[in-house]
Amino acid sequence: MSTPIITLKNVSMRYKMPEGNYFTALENINFSLESGKIAAILGPSGCGKSTLLRIITGLLKPSEGEVYYKGELQKGVNDKMSMVFQNFALFPWKTVKENIELGLKGDEEPEKQEKIVEHIIDVVGLEGFEDVYPKELSGGMKQRVGIARALVSNPEVLCMDEPFSALDALTSENLREEVLDFWSEGAAGLSNILIVTHNIQEAVYMADEIFILASNPGSIKAIYHNTLPFPRDQKSAEFFKTVDIIYNILTQNIMPEVPRSSMYDRIAPIPMVSVSEIIGLLEVLDDNKGRLEIFELSEHIKRDFGKTISIALAAEMLGFVETPHHDVIFTTLGKKFLESDVNERKIIFKEQILKIPLIRAVIDLVKNSEDNVITREECEDFLMEKLPNERPDELFETIVNFALYAEVLDYDSRDEELSLITENV
Ligand code: ADP
Repeated sequence: MSTPIITLKNVSMRYKMPEGNYFTALENINFSLESGKIAAILGPSGCGKSTLLRIITGLLKPSEGEVYYKGELQKGVNDKMSMVFQNFALFPWKTVKENIELGLKGDEEPEKQEKIVEHIIDVVGLEGFEDVYPKELSGGMKQRVGIARALVSNPEVLCMDEPFSALDALTSENLREEVLDFWSEGAAGLSNILIVTHNIQEAVYMADEIFILASNPGSIKAIYHNTLPFPRDQKSAEFFKTVDIIYNILTQNIMPEVPRSSMYDRIAPIPMVSVSEIIGLLEVLDDNKGRLEIFELSEHIKRDFGKTISIALAAEMLGFVETPHHDVIFTTLGKKFLESDVNERKIIFKEQILKIPLIRAVIDLVKNSEDNVITREECEDFLMEKLPNERPDELFETIVNFALYAEVLDYDSRDEELSLITENV
């Protein structure tokens, strides 16, 4: 077998946090990617996809482990790779052509460079727009500029970080197809595409290899070899079947079919979402006869799949919904909560959060402290000790958001102090 283009060996990434602690974003990642393949890195938000892509390109040095490019240990930024970003990352004061030229490596004759730029402008369909400024372009056209800028450096590996997720459904579908077209027509020298996505359909549509990531800490849950022949028909039974297989691998990990009581009978992480996101989800369920399939729900609430799962899990933790298989269904309590006025909602919410061991533990910490007050730092230290694999700042904000709504705790953001509102908890 030929040498893989990219190999990762025991790669881990720990981010240093302001308090001097470390947060493990990726743990022990191992994989190889053969030359000539499109690979997707798939997983819910926050599982470490962008971190992994930046490590692969050499923009970020892993805390542990090595990256090999064509069998050679990679040191520093790999200039054979180029990147396309979700938010386009264009300079507003430069024209389309000038933005594209920024991707040139500058080691070619000026006439040759001019030819490359013209050719790429043609490939990505930007003829006639050369002198236009980004603000005059639609999102889809902006991303064409982002792709063109990445291609003019003649990369061997084109890396794309959620390239289509800021675009509407139709535009992203068209662009996806076009990327596959120029890929199959053989953009000069391009050997691989690596695409980061949270969208299962996108991964199944584009990729030969799908690296499925799980969170906390980010790790590879499975590698799926997608052998569906190109061009792929998104409406075919085989396509749906593949989506379903990957869906099941993902949800097994993030929506496990275990009795809910056992999930929350100890101090465990809670989904990091806000009260208003939970209420928003319940309202959408209510508009849809109290039951929706998780993909449909994700479309309705206009959140990505990973975020939708987090919100559904939070609603489930509070006893407002159940999540059998792929569905999210109202419970009697969820329905009652939504039909209540603001004060009644707060009472129900308070009763429910007091049953969650992590929130209970934080409330007890405040209750048992002097004057019933603790600092944010003390609370985050406590969270770090109990749940070392979680982001203490994000957990803190989620707990405070819940406790403020339930009127159990108060938070003074100037002094960064958390206090008890009522001793009656
Ligand atoms: P994804 O791309 O899957 O959404 P990321 O790679 O962006 O995930 O982030 C993975 C985790 O690492 C997240 O919890 C994020 O908050 C954290 N993270 C990312 N960058 C940093 C950083 N520079 N410092 C601290 N934490 C970070």
